[in-house]
Amino acid sequence: MTDPRRALPSVHALLELDEVRALGDRVPHAVVAGAARAAIAAARDEPGGAPHGDAAWAAAVVAHVERHERPTLQPVLNATGVVLHTNLGRAPLAAAALDAIAEAARGFSSLEYDLAAGARGSRHVHCASLLRELTGAEDALVVNNCAAALVLALNTVADGREAIVSRGELVEIGGSFRVPDIMAKSGARLVEVGTTNRTHAEDYRRACGPRTGALVTVHRSNFALDGFVAAVRPRDLAVLAEEAGVPLLYDFGSGLMLDLAPWGLRGELTARDAVASGAGLVMMSGDKLLGGPQAGIILGRAAHVEALRRNPLARALRVDKLTLAALHATLTLYREPARAVCEIPALAMLTTPEAQVRRRAEAMVGSLSSAGIAARAAACEATVGGGAFPTARIPSHAVVLDGDAVTLERRLRLGATPVVGRVADGALWLDLRAITAADDARVVDAVREAVA
Ligand SMILES: *Cc1c(COP(=O)(O)O)cnc(C)c1O
Repeated sequence: MTDPRRALPSVHALLELDEVRALGDRVPHAVVAGAARAAIAAARDEPGGAPHGDAAWAAAVVAHVERHERPTLQPVLNATGVVLHTNLGRAPLAAAALDAIAEAARGFSSLEYDLAAGARGSRHVHCASLLRELTGAEDALVVNNCAAALVLALNTVADGREAIVSRGELVEIGGSFRVPDIMAKSGARLVEVGTTNRTHAEDYRRACGPRTGALVTVHRSNFALDGFVAAVRPRDLAVLAEEAGVPLLYDFGSGLMLDLAPWGLRGELTARDAVASGAGLVMMSGDKLLGGPQAGIILGRAAHVEALRRNPLARALRVDKLTLAALHATLTLYREPARAVCEIPALAMLTTPEAQVRRRAEAMVGSLSSAGIAARAAACEATVGGGAFPTARIPSHAVVLDGDAVTLERRLRLGATPVVGRVADGALWLDLRAITAADDARVVDAVREAVA
């Protein structure tokens, strides 16, 4: 055959094949026809890889249908070693949170109904008392995410006025989140003080005036400043804000609820510390180190939180009942810190002893060797992710696959159970720090499938 394109079948011919016809029982005809066209187009683009024979063509059409029918939002096994990976959905939820979601979703609930009074209630009550208890805040409010919390706080206290922030804190959190852009959308006028590396109390004091609406401090989140640096601590900023007669808004970010120093993670304040700094409002995410659902948690002085609740924007940024149910269940676990560390997956992953991760890697390498696949267990370093402990390196272990790492990485990513690892030093590293032990067998199966 000199011109393989001549061998391409027609769409009609493919639709007549038995296995392709059978597809019509479970997917619409238009989808099957689209898959047949896609299979022909793929063969035209890559004549060398064109299917040979009816069975191979039918299999190609089936594969295109399956790819088309897969949801775009798929479960993924996170072998990147970044525990709170924003692109992979941040924190997995605790079993108690999953149960609470199922319960709230199944039927009706007292979302905005006061059962004691038999009258309309408020969705804002559901997590507030637990948040007060766990953080020491006077009051609390939950919105869609931390970015929403920041917009709502700024819009409420500083719309049309000035919000003073250090140049060293105008950070980009990720892809589409730049603190200065979000702040600008709130209606507050950003006033930058200090320099990238050094900002002093005097810089804030000089910028304060009759138009000042708030002082703002932002957790640097994903990087560390080192060397010739100076910053004003939140507790000192709270004093400056008090002098200026405006609140301090503290974008705290991570939502860390427990001191993780016993597990070697040091240098971050907890939410309780952030509240104790004296900030008028503290904003943080629900799905980072807190280990709950996506949410923006606002903690602070009762009068400010009440003003936020009354802002019409709060209606646009409100959370749904599933989030409230999951957040409440997650927060409840924090009443017993030892339980929180075991049952909240993000915390369990961060605190699993290194030896345990190593043993799992070795066992998986054993399973792969039995299946004739060469792999080795190797030490590596995982990171926290999620805007906290940016420089911390957590001892971890990986299953390492040598060979064509780039191809293997792609095949694992595109497999029935996608596994996302990382290519380094010409090998594929599957870091087990963010994989739960219960999923080890799935990783092994996925590797076997990718290698086959
Ligand atoms: C992550 C982060 C945000 C954004 O939080 P979302 O919940 O994703 O909106 C804002 N500020 C800081 C300091 C953060 O770390």
